[in-house]
Amino acid sequence: MTKKHFYNTTLFLLFFLSVVAIPRIAFAVFPATEKIPYSDFKKLVQEDRLEEVLLSSTTIKGILKAEDGQKVKKIVTTGKIDDPDLIKNLEAHNVKFSATTEGGGSQYISLIWFIPMIIFLILITRMRRGTTTGLMSIGKSRANVYIDKDTGVTFDDVAGVDEAKEELKEIIDYLQNPQKYQRLGGKIPKGVLLVGPTGTGKTLLAKAVAGEAQVPFFSISGSGFVEMFVGVGAARVRDLFAQAQEKAPCIIFIDELDALGKVRAAAPISGGHEERENTLNQLLVEMDGFDTRKGVILMAATNRPEILDPALLRPGRFDRHILVDRPDIKGREEILKVHCKNIKLGKDVDIKVIAARTPGFVGADLANVVNEAALLAARMGKDTVGMDSIEEAINRAVAGLEKKKRVMSKKEQEIVAYHESGHALVAESVPGADKVHRISIIPRGISALGYTLQLPTEDRYLLTKSELLDRLAVLMGGRVAEEIKFNEISTGAQNDLERATDIAMSMVREYGMSEKMGPMTFQDGRKPQFLDLGFRKSRELSEEVSKDIDGEVKKIIFDAYTRVKSILEENKYRLEILAKLLLEKEVIEGEELRNIISQNVLTPKKESPD
Ligand code: ADP
Ligand code: ZN
Repeated sequence: MTKKHFYNTTLFLLFFLSVVAIPRIAFAVFPATEKIPYSDFKKLVQEDRLEEVLLSSTTIKGILKAEDGQKVKKIVTTGKIDDPDLIKNLEAHNVKFSATTEGGGSQYISLIWFIPMIIFLILITRMRRGTTTGLMSIGKSRANVYIDKDTGVTFDDVAGVDEAKEELKEIIDYLQNPQKYQRLGGKIPKGVLLVGPTGTGKTLLAKAVAGEAQVPFFSISGSGFVEMFVGVGAARVRDLFAQAQEKAPCIIFIDELDALGKVRAAAPISGGHEERENTLNQLLVEMDGFDTRKGVILMAATNRPEILDPALLRPGRFDRHILVDRPDIKGREEILKVHCKNIKLGKDVDIKVIAARTPGFVGADLANVVNEAALLAARMGKDTVGMDSIEEAINRAVAGLEKKKRVMSKKEQEIVAYHESGHALVAESVPGADKVHRISIIPRGISALGYTLQLPTEDRYLLTKSELLDRLAVLMGGRVAEEIKFNEISTGAQNDLERATDIAMSMVREYGMSEKMGPMTFQDGRKPQFLDLGFRKSRELSEEVSKDIDGEVKKIIFDAYTRVKSILEENKYRLEILAKLLLEKEVIEGEELRNIISQNVLTPKKESPD
């Protein structure tokens, strides 16, 4: 059998399987689903023929009671209609109901159906690649770009992200009067990248920009681009831009940009990569080619900016980055207000309390909590959504999020609060450290649990020895604060210690700042790195010298440790005040921090030891 014959036979078999055989088996095993009008669905409820109902955000699925002799139960679906009586009716007829994200059994049917289909398609792609016959031109037909003529979303629907909104106002203004900006020859930004964790409202913000400017909204998901067909991804991109340019002014939004914009590999390994890279290249080409004067603005969202191909971030492409971070307590309060607008809340509900109970939650989580609480209250036959239902919904959400490691336990939060307060206090009490801009215990990204943001007051090219020692002290502040408060240390300081060790190493090996070693450098061509075992074996450094270097590095670190310990011991009450406040507010701005410190007489600044 030649290769071609083999392909043809396999193709035929797979085709047969996917189109004829598997659906038959599937329908025998899984119940059939019938689409019915909502009115019929209501009738089924009235006639007591339903056993269970699953509600999702878009559809209602009903499982019929089994009739005599029937082995599999019949399932009906209908589109979701805003019917306030639905829950009441279901209860009146004793129908079990629950909310789901997606429907039950029928999913599997399509899954089973799809497996051979997918193999079939992969084979076709392979063949297409091997031969040059243009077997199919699937490109155009499969482009699923979503177009929203008017998103109807406004800035009022997005809360807790005031800084991002402020930055986006300019874009709206531009979309509304493009001429005004071009009058003087200025160039309009082409691409705006929204960066932040999932569920913080990036998509919502992009829609709101379109809604505010009253322009059409084209959207597509990066993961949707990752296609198996050769050339389809690139064709979709071309299509998208062509369509958008016709409808300008408008917004093109690419969700999950990282799925398609990952760094291009030097040597592509498999076909999948190659295809993604073709798509990415096409996107770059389109971005360079389109004319902002027509009023097309490209927006994209990602929660992993670090893996994006640098080419995407170059000037003229996605050169504006807007951070959409997890909301702080005030932000959560505002988001909750937005989502509670159409909810009948009980008198006992205090939105401030809910906000305080939900640290680490993003907008999507909060929206879920409100919705879940409303369903719970309805199920219990209440007239309003009370605090008890909300508490219950929060507890359920927390359990889910804890599993996904997205929220911290109370204890962890406390540790982080003391840790960050330690950094901040040391930074404010040594002379050579950058001023603290903000302290936060809201987890950001994956690695850092909290952060203390220091901003340099000026650009620095040279650092003195005492400044380096001060920086080192700030880095040690977190670990030492934990030790003072809890008499125990956690793994949270790993990154700090790594950076501290790097500084100490560089001081001894590169800058000649250790008295014992003298003004000499001890490099072996590579940048020194923590735990770089290689340099110990280096031929240039004798064992004795290496030992001395290690000793000096250790001494610098230990001196810094002792110094920080005495600073924080002396400021112990400030540490307490600060950490408690941080736990309560989650974010403290630099000014506020300095106020807190100066309310109590400041202990004299500790000079660097020498
Ligand atoms: P992202 O694109 O960042 O993953 P989405 O914009 O898809 O997040 O948010 C999902 C849903 O969560 C929104 O449709 C909205 O209901 C809710 N939501 C998220 N963030 C906010 C916010 N800042 N204000 C109001 N609602 C929000
Ligand atoms: Zn730290």
